[in-house]
Amino acid sequence: MALLPASLERLILALERLPGIGPKTASRLAFYFLHAPDAYAIDLSQSLAELKVQTAVCETCFNIMEAGRKECQICTDEKRDRSVLCVVEDALDVLALEKTVGYFGLYHVLNGALSPIEGIGPDDIRVKELEDRVRLGDIKEVIVATNPSMEGDATALYIRQRLERYPVTLTRLARGLPVGGDLEYADQNTLLRALAGRQSL
Ligand SMILES: [Zn+2]
Repeated sequence: MALLPASLERLILALERLPGIGPKTASRLAFYFLHAPDAYAIDLSQSLAELKVQTAVCETCFNIMEAGRKECQICTDEKRDRSVLCVVEDALDVLALEKTVGYFGLYHVLNGALSPIEGIGPDDIRVKELEDRVRLGDIKEVIVATNPSMEGDATALYIRQRLERYPVTLTRLARGLPVGGDLEYADQNTLLRALAGRQSL
């Protein structure tokens, strides 16, 4: 006989799949919803159900956006500097850089970083699409803002190899960001300083 009702068991298993959530936390969260106001569970289930339906990926920069558009708000913003492209690992990094209010160029979201251990190679991240954008010729500087980690550094070097032949300036965010850390966790001032002090890649 099952110890817990099936629906509760199912919720615990679903929560366990989340990054950083172990079985104990999953159980605690599930029981929390059991006792919390109905609206909490309904809000969460509705947001989750709508998440994939109501979001899309920008066809140009691969940032996350509202569904039904072709390009994101940043790509379509006339006031952005179209000669500078900032390459990041994921959409959360775009958010972090936008919050600094100190960057006015465009972005390119790779959707990951090279990682032989995890089996992520050049074809698994959007490097080819980056090269395609650079080849068009409007971009003068590519700022490689991959994370200051082994994977982020390896990705930066690979991007340099791919883009060397084009007449663009390649730069990398300055050191000073916590090594091994994630761009999205850096505070705004640190990010601004890293951006201002960017060096040739
Ligand atoms: Zn975009």
